[in-house]
Amino acid sequence: MTRQTNGRGRLFDNVLDTIGDTPCIRINNIGPANATIYVKAEAFNPGASVKDRLALNIIEAAEASGELKPGQTVIEATSGNTGIGLAIVCAAKGYPLVVTMAESFSIERRKLMRFLGAKVILTPKEQKAVGMYNKSVELAEKHGWFLARQFETSANADIHESTTAREIMADFDGKQLDYFVTGYGTGGTMVGVSRVLRKERPNTKIILTEPANAALVSSGEVQERTEAGGPAKGHSAWEPHPVQGWTPDFIPLVLQEALDNQSYDELLKVAGPEGIVWSKKLAQQEGIFTGISGGATFAVAMKVAESAPKGSIILCMLPDTGERYLSTPLFEGIGADMDAGELELMQSTPGCQLG
Ligand code: PMP
Repeated sequence: MTRQTNGRGRLFDNVLDTIGDTPCIRINNIGPANATIYVKAEAFNPGASVKDRLALNIIEAAEASGELKPGQTVIEATSGNTGIGLAIVCAAKGYPLVVTMAESFSIERRKLMRFLGAKVILTPKEQKAVGMYNKSVELAEKHGWFLARQFETSANADIHESTTAREIMADFDGKQLDYFVTGYGTGGTMVGVSRVLRKERPNTKIILTEPANAALVSSGEVQERTEAGGPAKGHSAWEPHPVQGWTPDFIPLVLQEALDNQSYDELLKVAGPEGIVWSKKLAQQEGIFTGISGGATFAVAMKVAESAPKGSIILCMLPDTGERYLSTPLFEGIGADMDAGELELMQSTPGCQLG
């Protein structure tokens, strides 16, 4: 019988009300034999990433506190997804947006933000995330703009506590959930979800992951901070890694709560290229389209499954869409022209051949 859909049963007042309530989807073809993995696919948000949630809450919290005035310019340092989320929120609410971003992040991120009406100020890749962060502070002070401060604001983890975590609680209500796996950029997802799981699902093991060559938390080296909680300097354990959106070259203040409270049961490292391998497998064998951080988180979920008791249920965060990586190593080898196999197929019938 033809499938039927029935609408969402409501009309939406604006695009911002469509943020959240992303689906947890079972993995059927590439999952482990002894366990079941579900993925929480954040690409279903209107800006196609988990950061729509935080963008909305930063702006609404600042509106409520009076810190953000009508029409005031918003500025933020971002690896892209927060900027895209903020661009959507600012467009819908009428705030100009300026973003500072290291030149190393993908071109499509810049273009998307500009398309959504934001100004994007690029910073030198040699100065890493601390450089783009410092530039955002400098510009905010000079021009009297509202600085979103995703790495320090309580609005970040709070929105994951009140949305991401609540969605997981509701979707797994009365069901088994043995492991929750996530990486960190700001740490908002990790901290917000763990606040709720620790209290309401204490038997769910929380697995935190970070790039093998930028294992800041694993290193044990404490992050030096400014008075405002920002990084006083870059962390010495950091090296450039391909997992865009994960692990800047400092330990964010937001993540620090999880470290101080021991909010995770295990900390696992993953090599960046593994993220690329698993992102491709998710796309080609499950039809689930996610970026490199999603692939890396999934790689860790597969590792967790290896030593998990038989019949375990694992939930894995997939933070964004693979479409954000067309110009990056994720799409290396995916050509625009026909390859030999495609040419052979074209020639296998006489009609409509490209010369
Ligand atoms: N993956 C991607 C692609 C991201 O953009 C981000 C956020 N920077 C994350 C993962 C991590 O999310 P969080 O900031 O909540 O730790």
